[in-house]
Amino acid sequence: VRATRGGEEVRGYAPSMGQIFLRRFQMVTQFRQALEEGQVSVHYQPKVSLPGKQVVGVEALVRWVHPEFGRINPDEFVPAVEAAGLVGALTSFVLDEALARVRRWLDEGIEISVAVNLSVRSLADEGFAAQVADALARYDVPARLLTFELTESAVMADPQRALPILGELHELGIELAVDDFGTGYSSLAYLRRLPVDQVKIDKSFVFGMGTDLGDLAVVRSIVELGHSLGLSVVAEGVEDDASRDQLEAMGCDVAQGYLISRPLAEDRLEAWLQARTARSLGHRDETVLTL
Ligand code: C2E
Ligand code: MG
Ligand code: MG
Ligand code: MG
Repeated sequence: VRATRGGEEVRGYAPSMGQIFLRRFQMVTQFRQALEEGQVSVHYQPKVSLPGKQVVGVEALVRWVHPEFGRINPDEFVPAVEAAGLVGALTSFVLDEALARVRRWLDEGIEISVAVNLSVRSLADEGFAAQVADALARYDVPARLLTFELTESAVMADPQRALPILGELHELGIELAVDDFGTGYSSLAYLRRLPVDQVKIDKSFVFGMGTDLGDLAVVRSIVELGHSLGLSVVAEGVEDDASRDQLEAMGCDVAQGYLISRPLAEDRLEAWLQARTARSLGHRDETVLTL
């Protein structure tokens, strides 16, 4: 809420700098304890193929329910945790949860891959690939069922350090995706040099593609660029049928967004997958899920 009083802008309800600082300080100092106490969990958002509608994977998205602040958005706490040098603990927590999930699916005879978001800090940690190899071995999960999503800016922050680590991860057989594509440097030359398999079109363009010709053009060019480089193209933020249909017509490979499902807690994801399988088996004309 904004009001002007005596020429000065007054923001009602907006927290003061002191409050923002204190909250950030508390988040950082309490993060490890939060992990131990079970305040932090992982939700999963399904990704489906176009036009087949098969579930090709899920993205792991971290959630923190703080005893005082309630739900804290990862867009707020992940950068704070990163800046405090604690992101290693976050990444290994999410990776363990995600691999444990994939392991349970494998035990049920189901193959679904999981994508984990990586921070710029992990791409500067020389021991990271070894740590990931160890986690895959501990859960006995094949590397091809793991994808790492990294933003362009994470890679471009220090490409000299990031590239060898990405190379090692790729050598292990892990899929690599460039997240939020179109919002960063968009250095096409680098995209060619990166050992990536997938680009994810940033949701801001997908939201706008139905009404804004500029956004539509960006989406179309990313699909074409991705395909011409031999990459698979994923659209995030698919919220309505119209965008889904347009993406399908353009040849975009995979869709993720509220239209398909919001990120779900583990038990709700299980229910969602079961309902989908039951539905597709009930209708002979629909594609049968390979679940
Ligand atoms: P991201 O990796 O680009 O993840 C996609 C974000 O878009 C998620 O927000 C997801 O909930 C949201 N989203 C997906 N489909 C839709 C849609 O149709 N409409 C709308 N309005 N939103 C949609 P979320 O979960 O709040 O995560 C925000 C960001 O926080 C992520 O962006 C990622 O950069 C970061 N993040 C989340 N989990 C982790 C993690 O475990 N580690 C690290 N390093 N970063 C994480
Ligand atoms: Mg992501
Ligand atoms: Mg994204
Ligand atoms: Mg994002």
